[in-house]
Amino acid sequence: MEAAKQQKGPCYLCGFETSKAYMGRHLLAQHCEADDRQECCLIKIEDENGEYWLFVDIPLSSTLSVLDKFLREVWLECCGHASAFRPQRSYNEEYRMNCRIGSFPLGTVIEYEYDFGSTTTLTVTFVGNIYREKQKIAVRVLARNHPYQFKCERCGKQAAWIDAAEWPGVMYCGACAKKVGDDGYLLPVVNSPRMGVCGYCGEFDKFGYKGIKKAKK
Ligand SMILES: [Zn+2]
Ligand SMILES: [Zn+2]
Ligand SMILES: [Zn+2]
Repeated sequence: MEAAKQQKGPCYLCGFETSKAYMGRHLLAQHCEADDRQECCLIKIEDENGEYWLFVDIPLSSTLSVLDKFLREVWLECCGHASAFRPQRSYNEEYRMNCRIGSFPLGTVIEYEYDFGSTTTLTVTFVGNIYREKQKIAVRVLARNHPYQFKCERCGKQAAWIDAAEWPGVMYCGACAKKVGDDGYLLPVVNSPRMGVCGYCGEFDKFGYKGIKKAKK
């Protein structure tokens, strides 16, 4: 598995494609006002290497437990491991899950860990305030990196599977995976920092980018 160049991603609200570095500014400049104002925090979530990234909005009145549930759904959940939000570089302190999103000053960066064995560590940045139309869901995905493309170790075609028996895992396309055979460690290639870890199989693209629907007239 070779490290890929950091992927750009689309803004889910207008389709604009840009880098992680610029996306926060785009969202604050273009999508921070709404008539039916629900006050939210714009939050950036990244993995340790900064390769996988998400921007979401979440009401200031929501709690860390709501964000925890979302992170499990979009990137992490394999078998119900424990998780915690912590101050940066702190190993024994943790924030209570009922902490309100609005209690963190803008600019704060905190850490999140899922699974204290094969840990996936994320950083969560409170980027800015945003107003949105009232939403049914608490956490709304605003932008996300495009999936990375990996090459099959044997034939060079696009990989669909990762054999996680070794670390880093060996990547295979569908045909080669069949030839090699499933040793019980074959996991799908997914758009998540937990790809190839424990039994992680992905979120079935529930939060994938579907493109921009044209407004009805
Ligand atoms: Zn946009
Ligand atoms: Zn697991
Ligand atoms: Zn192949």
